[in-house]
Amino acid sequence: MKYVSTRNQSPAVGLSQAIAAGLAPDGGLYVPESLPEKRQLRAGATLAESAAALLRPFFQGDGLEGDLDAICREAFDFDAPLKQLGTPNDHVLELFHGPTAAFKDFGARFLASALNRLRKERERPLTIVVATSGDTGAAVAAAFHRQPGLRVVVLYPDGRVSPRQAHQLGCFGDNVVALRVAGSFDDCQALAKRALNDTGLQAKAPLSSANSISLGRLLPQMGYYAHASLQHWEQYGKPLNFVIPTGNLGNGLAAVLARSLGAPIERIMFSTNANRVLPEFFAGGDYVPKNSVATIANAMDVGAPSNFERLRWLYREDDPALRDAFVTISVDDETIRRTIQQRHQRFGEIFCPHTATAVHMLKQLRGEGESGDWAVVATAHPAKFESVVEPLLGRSLEVPPALAELLARPASAEPIEPDYDALSRCLMA
Ligand SMILES: *Cc1c(COP(=O)(O)O)cnc(C)c1O
Repeated sequence: MKYVSTRNQSPAVGLSQAIAAGLAPDGGLYVPESLPEKRQLRAGATLAESAAALLRPFFQGDGLEGDLDAICREAFDFDAPLKQLGTPNDHVLELFHGPTAAFKDFGARFLASALNRLRKERERPLTIVVATSGDTGAAVAAAFHRQPGLRVVVLYPDGRVSPRQAHQLGCFGDNVVALRVAGSFDDCQALAKRALNDTGLQAKAPLSSANSISLGRLLPQMGYYAHASLQHWEQYGKPLNFVIPTGNLGNGLAAVLARSLGAPIERIMFSTNANRVLPEFFAGGDYVPKNSVATIANAMDVGAPSNFERLRWLYREDDPALRDAFVTISVDDETIRRTIQQRHQRFGEIFCPHTATAVHMLKQLRGEGESGDWAVVATAHPAKFESVVEPLLGRSLEVPPALAELLARPASAEPIEPDYDALSRCLMA
């Protein structure tokens, strides 16, 4: 399988090269030259086996092909349970049982495991530069921590991530450098992008990205959608539908790809916060990237969803067809808070603010008479967002053991101005 750029101005490359590069040289995103045929998938496999079955055609002919099973075992070594909710035919797919309690652990661990194998051919240490609004940086830092020959530099907007997210970002040390930037997430992303496009700097310190544009993060995320929908099919003989809390569209796109490869998934819908770029497009408007606005579901504070370009490519730029294929809603902070409170009062269920946008969307669908089997995707553990969730519940949340272990370590981050010279000095050090 070869990979081409969404902008068609770069040569086709193999998977290893696409994973190592992150962005294509023409500024586009790597996509497979053609989508693989539907797969024969079987229920009863482990999560790692389900992921490998889906990923196999994407690895065909690549140097990493022989390592695929081992990479999947390393990345998918914790559960993604599908659980029944208090309301009939409603389920939740819990993706927060990894080391940093968010779904990004799956993709980050897969990428680390793949790069670790590619690195053997490389001489100089590779620096992973990652801009984060909270969860990405922690997942990447945890996945790459103490990996020989790899270093991580994380940029996050100072004061705009939750206290526990900040702690997670600063608690690794060793080969992980946390920079708290006096600016917004967009400033962090602009700095990271500039570094990744700086050929002069790259000649001295090779860089790679680990943002959600990386195929090494995107593709493995298909695994849990296939696994959950197959399990549901086996148990109920019915396809599963998903509502996915969405920011950069990486997790959502993985579900779309899993479905096209044969996972028994029917409809896919996206929920988001007050950042309305996708809802406006899917409601018939133009695609107009904007500055992001800050919300209590901060991992989805995205004004220019990076994987949108891939979704458009998948629909061959046919925007009317794309608009018809998906529904997206925007959920404001007040509704998120109310949803968290109500589900707790009525059913004893506790959701993080991102997941709550999906729960609200599903409630709205049920109100319109929708009767299929649905799963909301729980993208993070609520204890990660304690400053939002605990006041709503009026009690403190139990912290999952992996997260508790990180929070018990000391943490520190270096302050920097949103200034490119400051970052490049740090990357050269
Ligand atoms: C990253 C993140 C999202 C958004 O995922 P995308 O792949 O960017 O759409 C949603 N919820 C949580 C908790 C996240 O960390």
